[in-house]
Amino acid sequence: MYRNSNYSRVSRRTRFGARPYSGGRAYAPRRNGFQKRGYSLPAKIDLSRYINKAVITETVEHFVPEHRFADFSLDERVKANIAAKGYLEPTPVQDRAIPHVLRGEDVVGIANTGTGKTAAFLIPLLNKTLLDRRQGVLVMVPTRELAQQITEELRGFAGRLPVHAAVCVGGAGIGGQIAALRRRPQFVIGTPGRLKDLLERRVLILSDFETVVLDEADRMLDMGFIHDMRNILSRMPASRQTLFFSATLSRDIEKLIGEFLREPVRISVKTQDVAASIEQDIVKVPPGGNKFVLLKEFLSRPEFEKVLVFGRTKHGVEKLAKALSADGFRAESIHGNKTQGRRQKALDLFKRDHVQVLVATDVAARGLDIDGVSHVINFDLPATHEDYVHRIGRTGRAGKKGKALTFVE
Ligand code: ADP
Ligand code: MG
Repeated sequence: MYRNSNYSRVSRRTRFGARPYSGGRAYAPRRNGFQKRGYSLPAKIDLSRYINKAVITETVEHFVPEHRFADFSLDERVKANIAAKGYLEPTPVQDRAIPHVLRGEDVVGIANTGTGKTAAFLIPLLNKTLLDRRQGVLVMVPTRELAQQITEELRGFAGRLPVHAAVCVGGAGIGGQIAALRRRPQFVIGTPGRLKDLLERRVLILSDFETVVLDEADRMLDMGFIHDMRNILSRMPASRQTLFFSATLSRDIEKLIGEFLREPVRISVKTQDVAASIEQDIVKVPPGGNKFVLLKEFLSRPEFEKVLVFGRTKHGVEKLAKALSADGFRAESIHGNKTQGRRQKALDLFKRDHVQVLVATDVAARGLDIDGVSHVINFDLPATHEDYVHRIGRTGRAGKKGKALTFVE
């Protein structure tokens, strides 16, 4: 499944930055009177970064996993559950990271979106808690949906094994979370704000938690969680095992790694900024052109089966979803102004193919694993290149192909 990509152990600079602009097709429909226009664009946007025709010109090295799941020193029951989940062989990041995590080392794992980073930490940590039931593992993530998703994946690996998890996220009643923590779960999976709240109420005690995972930590920084994260980590034993996973590394994150991890093993199994499985292009919106009309035009095409549309603001996203619905599209929205219940409901409808379109803020860009997203459309430009990478990474996952379009005005 992962054979066709150019995975390697050493991270290399992407070819994108250096590549000359290859020219994006202008999708503006001619019958609306739009003409293919010249590319006079604001200098600050490097449009070539939004284009990847998925033409692979280099010889592709095959990634050959060093291990099979059977080779890892894992509890046989965990191995059986992995097999039951249908995982035949480890993905590159799992192949490289699992042995180090099993040895108790700190690990920084950088790998493209959709390549199985979750299992790279869940599988060995599940094993750790089976070896010693008093072990506590804290998983800190930026969004509630991601906490929920990781918990579900853990349940899949744990099956009927005696391992419990508490999901501790904001926007949901705290009472149930307190009750779940009283049962002394091995895994606590949550967002920084709520975790801190639970610590202050002294229902969450981290002094004997020996493992922490920071998934998508740069997003937590962007969301202003740094003080909460420091505060939470400072309550854990200094001798803990700390794991860090992301698809992107920023300078701020490097600082954080220096601060929180102890001589981490660095695993980087990406050769490009973005997975090669995602075909990317820009859609030039002519001056005076109407992005909304253009969007509807795309959504009407049969191949736009399951489309994640990104907008910049909560308000804009809500408005866009409403306008699409009013025009007969099956569309839902997910953003920070919605209650947790409504956010999860919208996401579930999209996951289960009950709606064609999910309009989202960047909150949905991190870590969410939604099967079969055919297209990601950046209706509004992302704020940073990292945000771009995470947004489009919602498609082209787990060996599948995907397409990403970025509207440029
Ligand atoms: P990432 O965190 O790297 O973006 P995820 O952990 O969300 O990726 O995994 C992406 C998808 O790949 C999920 O649907 C997951 O079930 C699937 N997956 C993970 N590991 C394997 C594997 N070894 N074999 C097959 N599918 C896998
Ligand atoms: Mg992930």
